[in-house]
Amino acid sequence: MAPIKKLTGPSKLPDVKTTIFTTVGNLARKHGAIDLSQGFPNFEADKKLMELVTLAMHQGHNQYAAMQGYYGLREIIAKKIEKLHGRVYHPDEEVTITVGATQAIFTAITAFVHSGDEVIVIKPAYDCYEPAIVLNGGIPVYVQLSKKDYKIDWEDLKGKINTKTRMLIINTPHNPSGRIFSKDEMLQLQEILRPTDIIVVSDEVYEHIVFDGEEHESASRFDALAERSFVCASFGKTFHVTGWKMGYCAAPSDLMHEFRKSHQFAVFCVDHPVQRAMAKYLEDERHYLELNSFYQKKRDFFLSGLQQTKFRFTPSQGTYFQLLDYSELTDERDEDLAKRLIIDYKLASIPISSFNTGQRNDGVLRFCFAKKKETLEAAIEILSNV
Ligand code: PMP
Ligand code: GLN
Repeated sequence: MAPIKKLTGPSKLPDVKTTIFTTVGNLARKHGAIDLSQGFPNFEADKKLMELVTLAMHQGHNQYAAMQGYYGLREIIAKKIEKLHGRVYHPDEEVTITVGATQAIFTAITAFVHSGDEVIVIKPAYDCYEPAIVLNGGIPVYVQLSKKDYKIDWEDLKGKINTKTRMLIINTPHNPSGRIFSKDEMLQLQEILRPTDIIVVSDEVYEHIVFDGEEHESASRFDALAERSFVCASFGKTFHVTGWKMGYCAAPSDLMHEFRKSHQFAVFCVDHPVQRAMAKYLEDERHYLELNSFYQKKRDFFLSGLQQTKFRFTPSQGTYFQLLDYSELTDERDEDLAKRLIIDYKLASIPISSFNTGQRNDGVLRFCFAKKKETLEAAIEILSNV
């Protein structure tokens, strides 16, 4: 059917294209490429978890769950946060179950960003933040991480804060760089924000994928950050079920009260049987605590295979992504090389310029190593011949 221009009118997102994940994923399928682009595991989740969902369905948990989420799940999430980060969130008032972290982030932005408000986004950034800001009339303001080591320039951040700044979005462990914010960095951030009334959306979806004995420094660990933060998490990432789209966020009650006003009309509630299953599955903390070493083995296997290639890297500190520097190989733009790798070499990755602003090209590609050993072996073989 031909589009009826009169009905579409001016776009609310004139600069937004179909996401890089869909574009690259489609190209990868078309060319039969090994897909290390979009971040999802190509191995199965724990059968126990699936059985728990089936059980919940058979037990009759098939109607709407509570608007805020199944209480038992909120309760065990609150216990987990208290144990890992020492912060007490009240399950009734301060934890909400969402359709993945994406909806938590979208709803937090919708609930607080007014037309003309500025929201600081640290670039390169995962792609769901800015459209949500713009749809709500907000103005994204960028702080650029340095090339190569992806460190934040605190003076730059300070300079971007003004009376219009309503929100700051942070992401640690960071997609796409694989960098984590250290305790010192979180403390710096806390001091910069202390005199302001800026709300923080802390995207912590890779909270359980941190390597080399480092710790995940959640915003919930720091008093003056926690009091202004939405800590957003994803069961999809943690339990290898990205297709289930379930996550949650935690925030102080006054912030969460406002959040739920939007949440109840965006989704009302989230898949009930999966919530029941997650609550039961979370009872065994090994299910998430063992993830660091599980993914570290995959990272190390992938990187050891890349030693002899022309790609250079700094090992990822967290997430299941690894950036590979291809500057020894070519000076073409990352999107051109990514396309060529798919078409000529049958290997898909993400050109991270799509996470950047303007024409910045870091000369790196992002590879997802949440894959079976044989997939990683096949990818290494290809990269060795590039
Ligand atoms: N934030 C980051 C940094 C991500 O990489 C992703 C992708 N999973 C999300 C948020 C979205 O998480 P979810 O799939 O739970 O919506
Ligand atoms: N978070 C995943 C990534 O960065 C993708 C999720 C999506 O496709 N929207 O690859």
